[in-house]
Amino acid sequence: MAIRVLQRQSPALSERSESKGIRRAAIVDCDVHHGNGTAMIFERDPDVFTFSIHQQLNYPFFKPRSDLDIGLEDGASDQRCLDALAGALPRVFDSRPEVIVYLAGADPFEDDRLGGLKMTKAGLAARDRLVLDAARAAGVPIAVVLAGGYAAHITDTVDIHTATIEALLH
Ligand SMILES: [Zn+2]
Repeated sequence: MAIRVLQRQSPALSERSESKGIRRAAIVDCDVHHGNGTAMIFERDPDVFTFSIHQQLNYPFFKPRSDLDIGLEDGASDQRCLDALAGALPRVFDSRPEVIVYLAGADPFEDDRLGGLKMTKAGLAARDRLVLDAARAAGVPIAVVLAGGYAAHITDTVDIHTATIEALLH
């Protein structure tokens, strides 16, 4: 919904000169669950590129189509997830977004109770850096949304989210 607000703040439509609107945006959804909500909301909006990388055999079982979907197999490793993400990011930036909304899901973690991927904390930190570095290199502002996170030990979920925030600050 933040994207809709930014789109509505188009300078041409606004009387407030300090308002800076956008037209194009992209969503990079790295939660273990498919980004079904954003896929549906922006299905008919060519200005919003939706990308979801997720565990294929997980909720929701009906997955509306994103502009780009990568359904990972159960137990996918750090390397597998990071390779798939790195391969997909150029397509996200090809859509020339003016802002990226990054869902930094903590639930691809290997010890998550609702997720079936096998990412380590180091792998998740590398994932964050991959997305943040790509946005910086492209000069595209990024908004990060914490998502997911149902680790057997809640401290693991806290660690993962904290690492995401630390990555943003560096
Ligand atoms: Zn999730």
